[in-house]
Amino acid sequence: MSGDASRQHAPLPDVWDDAYAATLDEPGRLVYRSNLLGRDLRITNYGGGNTSAKVDEIDPLTGEKVKVLWVKGSGGDLASVTRDGFATLYLDKLLSLKNRDRAFVVSDDIVPLFDQCAFNLNRRAPSIETPSHGLIPYAHVDHVHADPIIAIATCDKAEALTRQIYGGEIGFVPWQRLGFDLGLKLGAMAEANPRLKGAVLGNHGLVTWGATSKACYQTTLAMINKALVWLAANAKGAAFGGAVATSLAPEARREVAATLMTAIRKRVSAGQRKIGHFIDAPEVLEFVNSRGLKPLAALGTSCPDHFLRTKIRPLVLPFDPAANNLDAVVAALDPLLEAYRADYAAYYQRCKRPNSPAMRDPNAVIYLVPGVGMLAFAKDKPTARVAAEFYVNAINVMRGAESVGKYVSISEQEAFDIEYWILEEAKLQRLPKPKSLAGRAALVAGGAGAVGRAIAARLASEGAGVALADLDAASVEAAVADLRRRFGKDAATGVVMDATSESAVEAAFRQALLACGGLDILVCAAGVASAAPFEETSLELWRRNLATVATGGFLAARAGYRIMKDQGFGGSIVFVGSADAKAALAGAAAACAAEGTEIHLARGLAREGAAYGIRVNAVSSDASRREGEVAEAARYFASDLSAGCTGNVLSIEADKAAAPAR
Ligand SMILES: [Zn+2]
Repeated sequence: MSGDASRQHAPLPDVWDDAYAATLDEPGRLVYRSNLLGRDLRITNYGGGNTSAKVDEIDPLTGEKVKVLWVKGSGGDLASVTRDGFATLYLDKLLSLKNRDRAFVVSDDIVPLFDQCAFNLNRRAPSIETPSHGLIPYAHVDHVHADPIIAIATCDKAEALTRQIYGGEIGFVPWQRLGFDLGLKLGAMAEANPRLKGAVLGNHGLVTWGATSKACYQTTLAMINKALVWLAANAKGAAFGGAVATSLAPEARREVAATLMTAIRKRVSAGQRKIGHFIDAPEVLEFVNSRGLKPLAALGTSCPDHFLRTKIRPLVLPFDPAANNLDAVVAALDPLLEAYRADYAAYYQRCKRPNSPAMRDPNAVIYLVPGVGMLAFAKDKPTARVAAEFYVNAINVMRGAESVGKYVSISEQEAFDIEYWILEEAKLQRLPKPKSLAGRAALVAGGAGAVGRAIAARLASEGAGVALADLDAASVEAAVADLRRRFGKDAATGVVMDATSESAVEAAFRQALLACGGLDILVCAAGVASAAPFEETSLELWRRNLATVATGGFLAARAGYRIMKDQGFGGSIVFVGSADAKAALAGAAAACAAEGTEIHLARGLAREGAAYGIRVNAVSSDASRREGEVAEAARYFASDLSAGCTGNVLSIEADKAAAPAR
């Protein structure tokens, strides 16, 4: 596979709209510029980078004009940031911190004082990048993490390359942690040299500045484009030293990935349940198949934004696509994962400082598999996907740096000081409490019907990763699109499944495993709408009911049960049926028999699953338009709220509330 120059080197388009920008005030143009920069992930990674503007405002206290620094606050993403996402600070107060003594200014103790500079009672937390934005003497400042810039910044010849590519218009600051001191250096550099339009930050990214929002935006684009063009023109040799392995066919890659994902997930979920994500994009395959894979992976990621998400080092699995030694790799997983954890603990011990936070989860986040791709594991689906995407950024960076020199990462101690920075810990502490089903993988069979959709939505709203299985591809697609619209693009995946076919059910579960790497919750919600007087019940109708509801429930439950038993951390199976399940109705004999079979299947399975922590319950409801209540009941049985409940049938039959109990 080639370096794929066309994909990597298309220049970034300038999409600034003068007419639109003219309708905005200065903070509005800052938001507009931020959204334009954040929208293109080639400019900056998700959640990375920040922007600022120094704006004249009227002080609410004195009624006089003051300079206010608008700077993107801590957390949040440029693509979606609004005015609320910006911290606002009295610029003169922030700049007055320069006069404090030097030891204080360069310490983390100065950070809480940024809050003291808040303008107009704005409580948005200013980020650690705030001093750089304040101290650079230009009205507008951008800071981004574009892959081609970081490729230059992580190359052993970074400073010389910066000079060569940018002439004298971009400066260079060797690696140092963000903070007031870096701001002082950038400010002094910009002041001393009016030709400068920005600076490359060693091992980190790009800072640019300008007199107007538009000028700053265009400079950011122009500098990234220069790096792109230069790298394309000067790259030498095959990427990563050339290929030593060949990719498996797409279907075979997915098979291997599904096996590895389940095998890894059950081994890394001890402290906290994890969700997996799989990527086999061309740039990932190029890297995992290359000669450079092991040495480069060992060097670790460099940009702080990258390794905060990916951990410094990935784990390379010894899969050989030519020999297809999958069984041997799975058999070797325990010692491999243990060795990684031991390495991580040793790194923590070597580098920790007296005030370091306690060691975090020592498991790898990123797993690289020659011939197959990359797996990532994190506390939920979005975090796992974003970690995987960040490692793709790291791959792009290493390819660029290695194509024109040698890739160098920052020192282990520097990396540790960022990973365990008190300020990063504070950010983690500010994260909202995880939802009740975070880290759980769910499959809803019959998920495209009204009840199935309502259940899938309820599970997704509690943070579960949901796979939705149903017979009709178009309905599945529509249901998945709806869930993604409501709960984010990671909320759901769809699989087409004929519930009555043994091989189709097995294949669908296999495919669903690839979405999250396991299965904790299975909801069987498939049903048949049928009613007929008994004498008129055809054999076909009878068979259809038994096939879809009874046999379908059996096949899905058996597939899910096997996965849950193998995982070793229990699970919850919920059968959802109509009221016919419990109390027979006249005129629906076939449905009654099928639903009754399902209920008794649940009871039998509950007995057998108890030994493995697999709980099996059922919900029966008497009418349509009660989807919300059924979904709430399914969520109850799916979650730890019902820990200890198994073999139960919950009836939702409000219309019959007055009827005698059965
Ligand atoms: Zn940065």
